[in-house]
Amino acid sequence: MIYDAIVVGSGPGGAIAAATLAQRGKSVLLVDRQSFPRDKVCGDGLPGNVMEMLIKELGIDIQKAGLKYQQIYGIDMVAPSGSTLLVREKPSAYYSMVSPRYHFDNMLHQYALSKGAHFEVMDVDAPLYSKDGNQVIGIVQRQGKTLIEHEARIVIAADGVSSAVTRSLRGRVADPAETAVAIRAYARLKRPLRPDPTVYFKYLLDLVPGYAWIFPTARDQVNVGLGLFDQEMYKRRGKSLKELLNEFSDAIQNEFPLEIEPGTLKSWPIPVWTSQDSRVVKGVYLVGDAGRFVDALTGGGIYPAMVTGQLAGQAASRQLEGMHPAAAAAMYDAGWRKGIGKSLQRLLWVQHWIGSKPSVFNAIFNVANAVPPLRSTLLTGLAGQHS
Ligand SMILES: Cc1cc2nc3c(=O)[nH]c(=O)nc-3n(C[C@H](O)[C@H](O)[C@H](O)COP(=O)(O)OP(=O)(O)OC[C@H]3O[C@@H](n4cnc5c(N)ncnc54)[C@H](O)[C@@H]3O)c2cc1C
Repeated sequence: MIYDAIVVGSGPGGAIAAATLAQRGKSVLLVDRQSFPRDKVCGDGLPGNVMEMLIKELGIDIQKAGLKYQQIYGIDMVAPSGSTLLVREKPSAYYSMVSPRYHFDNMLHQYALSKGAHFEVMDVDAPLYSKDGNQVIGIVQRQGKTLIEHEARIVIAADGVSSAVTRSLRGRVADPAETAVAIRAYARLKRPLRPDPTVYFKYLLDLVPGYAWIFPTARDQVNVGLGLFDQEMYKRRGKSLKELLNEFSDAIQNEFPLEIEPGTLKSWPIPVWTSQDSRVVKGVYLVGDAGRFVDALTGGGIYPAMVTGQLAGQAASRQLEGMHPAAAAAMYDAGWRKGIGKSLQRLLWVQHWIGSKPSVFNAIFNVANAVPPLRSTLLTGLAGQHS
């Protein structure tokens, strides 16, 4: 069978792309090398606009879906100087939350299936090219030593930072020098958090704009981690991510007495945003991490993956209904540039000019402390909200 679309990867980007196409009556094969539910190395932090998209755009009721999550009531930040800033989130139906990806991604995966996408566990080796090599006409599956071809009218690549599809099309997903690295673990708290927990960010003096985080997944469990955005600075520091995370968790034992669950300690790269280049290559729509849609200031990529998944699904549907492929590609590029491109560009600028300079960073913290309206602007940026 030749499907209308094959979507590679069923993370937030791929699941929403597949659901969007299936909802419009298209035949969709959604493939992932893992079966669901599955873990994804992440901080699990979901800014308020994720909830807004779930409710308003996708019509998902997280209570009915039985999602496991912790509501978040604000941000607690520590500047490189040690000064602190607590910003409370305004009460809203679209609140921030922390939900382990094991649960969150499975909810979106089930959502895609409920809309009619057909799922298969499949390891994709590469795109399948037309004879002249100018167009992608499907995917090549790897099964042991055997390669199996699957044709489709459209391919959407949502296979994350290690994307086999993007690598084949562009040589690599991201330049290693411009890729952030992060480590996370789940930890049990020896003392439960207050009933209205906040997320905690600590900017590290010699590693800014890198930061350590504690994101509560429940009142007695947290996701603890470290994200480093400057590879050179990290190499100069001469310590592994694991050592740096252990140093951080030792240093905060008074505030957060926690015990790391050893099997959950994992590191993973983050392909941060760098350019407004087209994200349609040889007819393939690049979505989420595979298209490098990650906020360079915080490493937040779940919301951008969801938005680009939806926009790619919409543009691909129009193409299947007869829109010229070049017009559909332009529709996708215009959609993400308008929706999240500007804020991703702004956050890259902030990371470069402010985030990496501890003295400027400290000064902004102090001003935000003194001028309350600035606090919510800081909250919006540092929480990874897109406006
Ligand atoms: C340590 C860490 C902390 C982070 N914290 C946050 C955070 O708190 N908030 C936030 O918003 N973002 C965070 N991010 C970023 C976020 O995890 C990603 O941006 C997001 O997962 C991107 O979603 P996606 O759908 O594009 O890809 P993914 O979620 O990576 O999904 C890709 C899917 O493709 C599948 N796949 C891969 N290769 C193949 C193949 N060859 N064949 C078939 N299937 C394949 C994978 O199994 C996977 O299911 C963090 C990242 C890291 C590393």
